[in-house]
Amino acid sequence: MGSGGNCHDYKFLIKRWRILSKQTGLKLRKFTEVDHFPCYEVASEHQDYNRGIYISAGIHGDEPAGTEALLSWAESRKDLLKEIPVVIYPCFNPWGLMENSRFDSQSRDLNRQWDKEDSSVITEVIKRTAGIRFSLAVNLHEDYDANGIYLYEPPRRGSPDKLSSEILAAGQKYVAIDSRKKIEGRWARNGIIRPAKSSLPVEGLPEAAFLQNSRADRTFVFETPSEKDLSLRVKAQIAMLDQAIQLLVSK
Ligand SMILES: [Zn+2]
Repeated sequence: MGSGGNCHDYKFLIKRWRILSKQTGLKLRKFTEVDHFPCYEVASEHQDYNRGIYISAGIHGDEPAGTEALLSWAESRKDLLKEIPVVIYPCFNPWGLMENSRFDSQSRDLNRQWDKEDSSVITEVIKRTAGIRFSLAVNLHEDYDANGIYLYEPPRRGSPDKLSSEILAAGQKYVAIDSRKKIEGRWARNGIIRPAKSSLPVEGLPEAAFLQNSRADRTFVFETPSEKDLSLRVKAQIAMLDQAIQLLVSK
């Protein structure tokens, strides 16, 4: 991975994605531009994305382990990327990443925009993924209040996903699981939050809830504690991503 000093450098991040895309045959496409920053999608070429994997990071700019981990994970899983159809969004909020800001330049939380057409980035992603049914969707996040790793399972039908505890167990090798009973005002059990549909944020629909509603069979949001060491947070995110995908692929 890059050094901590580079983790808010959007240009550098994309430069590395460009190199990786060339090495793996993935297609790096600019899909919109916001505040003079091009936004990119990295996807398998000529693929049917159904049953594939959607991964995104950097919707909140002050959560650099997500963007860094997604790239480091991809750099170390080149063979897998040639086999499984993937749609990857390396960073939804370039301005925020540069400014270390949760919000975009217009003070919007892009993770509350998935039922509106206010942000060109989110609107475009909703359009681009229309009609695709992914097997797995993962959003990489961080939380500065957290004392360990945790994850969200967005509302869905049926019983809780057994994958969740296995994902956290993998990440726990690097960062302990958040022990709080209540996280971000929601009940948590061993680091797993399963919000009810009725308790979704009133400000607007989060990405994960949107994906689970209409794009993916299973969706997870990974959270690492942003006060802890960056390299450990990145390793924890990578381990969790590997675990989620491995279990999925082996089934
Ligand atoms: Zn976040």
